[in-house]
Amino acid sequence: MELKEQDPEVYGIIKAEEQRQQNGLELIASENFTSKAVMEAMGSCLTNKYSEGLPGARYYGGNEQIDKLEILCQNRALNTFGLDSTEWGVNVQSYSGSTANFSAFTALLEPNDRLMGLNLPSGGHLSHGYYRGDTKVNASAKYFQSLPYDIDPQTGLVDYDDLEKLAKRFRPKLLIAGGSAYPRDWNYQRMRTIADSVGAFLLTDMSHYGGLVASKCLKSPFEYSDVVTTTTHKSLRGPRAALIFFKKSLASRVNFAVFPCVQGGPHNHAIAAVSVQLKEASTKEFTEYSKQVISNAKMLGEILIQKKYKIVTDGTDTHLILWDLRPIGLTGSKLEALCDAVHITVNKNSVHGDRSAFSPGGVRIGTGALTSRGFVEKDFEVVAEFLDRCVQISKEIQSNVGKKLTDFKRALETNTEVHNLAAEVADYSSVFPMPGRIL
Ligand SMILES: *Cc1c(COP(=O)(O)O)cnc(C)c1O
Repeated sequence: MELKEQDPEVYGIIKAEEQRQQNGLELIASENFTSKAVMEAMGSCLTNKYSEGLPGARYYGGNEQIDKLEILCQNRALNTFGLDSTEWGVNVQSYSGSTANFSAFTALLEPNDRLMGLNLPSGGHLSHGYYRGDTKVNASAKYFQSLPYDIDPQTGLVDYDDLEKLAKRFRPKLLIAGGSAYPRDWNYQRMRTIADSVGAFLLTDMSHYGGLVASKCLKSPFEYSDVVTTTTHKSLRGPRAALIFFKKSLASRVNFAVFPCVQGGPHNHAIAAVSVQLKEASTKEFTEYSKQVISNAKMLGEILIQKKYKIVTDGTDTHLILWDLRPIGLTGSKLEALCDAVHITVNKNSVHGDRSAFSPGGVRIGTGALTSRGFVEKDFEVVAEFLDRCVQISKEIQSNVGKKLTDFKRALETNTEVHNLAAEVADYSSVFPMPGRIL
């Protein structure tokens, strides 16, 4: 029986979400619109199969096709990132980015060993050892000793000199490059030198910008890293999953960490969909897409700067910009709420120096998703105008109702400018096609 008849309730929610995606402007930097082909692979019978182990060495029978699939996925992963299979291997079984990182840490470290990653308020990811005060927020800080490094508050760039000093005192066993709200490319060579000076592994987590690495729009971390992790659903535009690349000498450690240490059976429907996406990611069209993603982000950043707004590092090398709202007296939560009310999706994001983690001073904006719907620079000029209006309306509301977020949100509901802008955004957005749909 089709979903529509068997379960109208779930079907209805999916259809409503599809409408939201179609009629809104998706600017969340970690999101994208995957293809119909990827969705078909995700929605296949492969979800029925258990296949713990690796190709040729499984704990269950009936894995002839699954073995072929996993080997194909591994080969495509190495190929898409231009890797030599005598030097690099890849595990394609991770469920998602956080699990991939925890598996990689489990492979490289003993419990309580030391690691250093970019601090969350500096643009790093939760799973790179985040703690706040006495609270070990992420398991990576609970089971390992974490000392985060930061960006330079003046330039917004990773403070490699400070990192070097900290690393020499802390002597981590693992150094992590890569982040989630960092708009610039990385100096992997410098990271390698620092790692070597204290005998640490270097892991690069390129989850956000893996697609841009595949397209050679950003530097490749592989030359300098021991392990590279990436999600497959952000700039790579695939299904939700992750890959762990490793130097061949680490193969058994990484594979054993993924299974049996951290995970059970792989999600074969996801592995099939990742394979489909990796094939797409090695095409000329995907390179063109990635270039457009970056041009769009640069254009958006330039317009915001022209309008006298402050963005961290005054620009971007990547698919994202980090917009510091503190100079205009707004919080990330308020702008996020207003944008939501007009069908523009952004996320509040802490910016370095924020006093409260609960009221972040910025928003993060990414161009990957809308570029998949065909947006080019001139369309992002329109998006920038919409965002500017969101700020103006937010400031006006704030000056009327004061600084409390609950009052602000209540005032949104009855504001005519909000209603008008919402209609304009929905109109504008609805004409751009949405790539994937199977129901
Ligand atoms: C998104 C992200 C992750 C986590 O991925 P999930 O699939 O959400 O678990 C890990 N590391 C970085 C750098 C990310 O941006």
